[in-house]
Amino acid sequence: MQRTKLVAGNWKMHGTLAQNAALITGIKEAVDGLKDVSVAVCPPFPYLESVGKQLYGSRILLGAQNISEHPVGAFTGEVSGDMLKDFDVHYTLVGHSERRSLYDESDDIVAAKFKAAQVCGFTPVLCVGETLGEREANQTEAVLHRQVAAVIEHAGIAAFASAVVAYEPVWAIGTGKTATAQQAQDAHAAIRRQIAAEDTSIAAALLVLYGGSVKPENAQSIFAMPDVDGGLIGGASLNSEDFAAICQAAAPSV
Ligand code: PEP
Repeated sequence: MQRTKLVAGNWKMHGTLAQNAALITGIKEAVDGLKDVSVAVCPPFPYLESVGKQLYGSRILLGAQNISEHPVGAFTGEVSGDMLKDFDVHYTLVGHSERRSLYDESDDIVAAKFKAAQVCGFTPVLCVGETLGEREANQTEAVLHRQVAAVIEHAGIAAFASAVVAYEPVWAIGTGKTATAQQAQDAHAAIRRQIAAEDTSIAAALLVLYGGSVKPENAQSIFAMPDVDGGLIGGASLNSEDFAAICQAAAPSV
């Protein structure tokens, strides 16, 4: 099955109005002409509106970095799905490892966020991945299985027909260490097998992105693997030339 690759930039807690405007100008110039690759950027919440306006008319989609699992209420500092609906949001990251580790988001909370995103019509990008200790203890597949199973249990397998999964080994995020193309392929294949055990056509269509120190120099070899459908890019998404080169590496060669 032919899947159109997706490259999404996770800006994390970086940027100002002026910096974002310059970044988006650079990305749009370099990426708007690319064919057969989907591109998204996930700015911090306060900038969704301004970045969304700048993206208007371009092919780059807007994503949020997080979403509350609650619809409304006394949750100071949180942002609900209905609030995100006021902006042109298409994707929401859920379960990024920084949220899991720094803010104690459990598998159950991540599953609830996944569902909250879909209830509001967004495509959740479910981030999963093992720590270095878990990899060294040969627990990679078990961890991925547990993280994905929590969402299947909560949202049902059909929910994966309108979702994206991002495999992000925690030890590779922001560290400059990248999984080898084969390590990425093995993890992605395991995720797809788990989904296929429930529904083969949903598994065949599911986008599974790789994230973890993707750079222009390593993007092509990782994206060439059969079960890698693009990337979730942190650090390199803050530089328009690097991000554009990574998007280019995901575009089919003509
Ligand atoms: C991320 O934050 O999702 C990520 C992959 O970061 P980096 O590319 O900087 O490793």
